[in-house]
Amino acid sequence: MQNQIGTQDAAKQSRLYLYRPFVNAALVNGNFKTIVMLPKFVAVNEWVAINVYDFFTNVNSFYGVLSEFCTSQTCPRMNIGPGRDCLWIDQNRKQLPLAAPTYIDYVMSWVQSLVENEEVFPTKSGRDFLPNFPSQIKLVYRLLLHVFAHIYHAHFQTVLHLKSEGHLNSLFAHFLSFGREFGLLDSKDLKGGVPSSSAAGTGPVAIGDLWEKWKELGILE
Ligand SMILES: [Zn+2]
Repeated sequence: MQNQIGTQDAAKQSRLYLYRPFVNAALVNGNFKTIVMLPKFVAVNEWVAINVYDFFTNVNSFYGVLSEFCTSQTCPRMNIGPGRDCLWIDQNRKQLPLAAPTYIDYVMSWVQSLVENEEVFPTKSGRDFLPNFPSQIKLVYRLLLHVFAHIYHAHFQTVLHLKSEGHLNSLFAHFLSFGREFGLLDSKDLKGGVPSSSAAGTGPVAIGDLWEKWKELGILE
């Protein structure tokens, strides 16, 4: 399976994910709003925590399937759109250009440690969420958005080859819909605008085009 449909070629080709039949593969019409809404009697932080945990788990396993096609050779930079790279910001606020698999590994390890931290994601009843929970969740969201954007931008050919475009679209549409409902997405990120924070992984995300397309098609609001 070496070199099966090179990611470089994929990047050069037109952005297939924006076109039919792929753009609306397996998307459930109109149901996202219903499934993201806060159920009665559930606290908002709990609902966000549960969903973000699920998104993380699903993106992680999805990327796991693609990981053999995402190497430091195929993806020497964490590119998330045409001519757009994400830089990793380390603890000393130094910007590091990383290969995509390294960047994604950092993202996944960091999020994993966060969701396993009882202080941040309390599982026992009677424990409160920390005041900085919203800002931490926004950062998780932003980093997972980068992973989605990289998959769409660099590996959509492989996704098609694996016949997983429906699964990916459904997962991503759910992610966007949920993020919008709970204010977890920065519109600047989606539109590919200027980096808006100095947190890890700043950089524009061009995947907003796909959201715009879904809005045009009436799939998402
Ligand atoms: Zn890659």
